[in-house]
Amino acid sequence: MSFTLEGRTGPWEIVVGLEVHAQVTSNAKLFSGAATAFGAEPNTQVSFVDAGFPGMLPVINRECVAQAVRTGLGLKAQINLWSRFDRKNYFYADLPQGYQISQYAHPIVGEGKIEIELQDGSTKTIGITRLHLEQDAGKSLHDQHPTKSYIDLNRSGVALMEIVSEPDMRSPEEAGAYLTKLRQILRYLGTCDGNMDEGSMRADVNVSVRKSGEGYRTRCEVKNVNSIRFVMQAVEAEARRQIEVWEEGGTVEQETRLFDTGRGVTRSMRSKEDAHDYRYFPDPDLPPLVIEQSWVEQLKASLPELPDERRARYVAMGLSPYDAHVLTLEKETAAYFETVAKGRDAKIAANWVMGDLFAAINRTKTSIAEPPIKAEYLGTLLDLMKDGTLSGTLAKAVFEAMVETGKSPGAIVEERGLRQVTDAGAIERIVAGVLESNADKVAEYKSGKEKLFGFFVGQTMKAMQGKGNPALVNDAVKKLLG
Ligand code: MN
Repeated sequence: MSFTLEGRTGPWEIVVGLEVHAQVTSNAKLFSGAATAFGAEPNTQVSFVDAGFPGMLPVINRECVAQAVRTGLGLKAQINLWSRFDRKNYFYADLPQGYQISQYAHPIVGEGKIEIELQDGSTKTIGITRLHLEQDAGKSLHDQHPTKSYIDLNRSGVALMEIVSEPDMRSPEEAGAYLTKLRQILRYLGTCDGNMDEGSMRADVNVSVRKSGEGYRTRCEVKNVNSIRFVMQAVEAEARRQIEVWEEGGTVEQETRLFDTGRGVTRSMRSKEDAHDYRYFPDPDLPPLVIEQSWVEQLKASLPELPDERRARYVAMGLSPYDAHVLTLEKETAAYFETVAKGRDAKIAANWVMGDLFAAINRTKTSIAEPPIKAEYLGTLLDLMKDGTLSGTLAKAVFEAMVETGKSPGAIVEERGLRQVTDAGAIERIVAGVLESNADKVAEYKSGKEKLFGFFVGQTMKAMQGKGNPALVNDAVKKLLG
């Protein structure tokens, strides 16, 4: 079923395409050796190239090119062995060169695709138009002084991948799912850390609306949206605004807008420039970028397992598609799960990770990257259940003790004497005691009140402080009753 927004004139369809700027994970910038670490003192990571000094020449960083190729491969995209850098000319106080070195007519990566997963369990393929490499600009700081603006050039020259999608999305949910999946793929590849709150990933959201069966109407671009939730909100807010304009007899003008997160509306920033306004031309300081097919093959052979493949593998291990989806969302979660599941029952491992561990992470406000329990310890806990040392109830108690103390399950079992009692003779002696002190109930049981069976089991467990092996306790009660 397709998503529509209701206007006065009936339903409207939304058309969304995203341009994502993703900061390349690399120690040095795209054309200089300056560092890229986030959060450094302003203007401490700036070379003469980044500051746009006259006569300085850019030198391309091979690792940034490799990262773009890896990303292209992860997006199942065409890798262009010949690409070129162009100058995109515009004036900005935090752009000292007076132009951005970008790729325009000949990007390094061409068409690709991403498969997104939707709430109802369905999937949809979203086309990738292109991926190109470009420099980031510096940052203007307007909130440090009442009458002055400051410039921080640390970000100037940092490598970005601009990843452009086809206008294939039709709802806020699809836009959110696309960004989620793209971020996941980049993080698996290690080509962008995906930290949207640090600005490592920013989305420009192109939105238009139309009546069913129509071609595209004019779109507007909502710039620099910095969270997945805000992207979804911006799509809906901008679509509603455009519907109102059309329904009042107006015309949507192509323009760049900003999303006001506080008020949940978009507002006009500037009329949209066309490409010719930037006076693109090939950068004379850089030769065309030529890479070898054999190098691309080498990078391909060293790619890590990607989310789709990992999910399929988990399903083949016996997990439900939903569990496989949840466990592969973050690669840290997948790594944790695999340590726990290695050589053990995958389904049981998944249940403990998604149930008890996730709950413990929430409760202790930790994360899967710094978990409250080591993955190895959770694995050992599963072994102790399997070999009968711990019952399910005791295992939960040991789990909680591990969260509290950080100690290994073995140490906790020894210290607290939590070992399950599996000595059938010892259990029978305790059951006999229970039956003896509940002679009246035994009589009731024997005259047909069979549901008292559970009472005897419960009393025995209580007497054993929960340490009786449940199956053996059951057997013993059955045997002595009758
Ligand atoms: Mn760009």
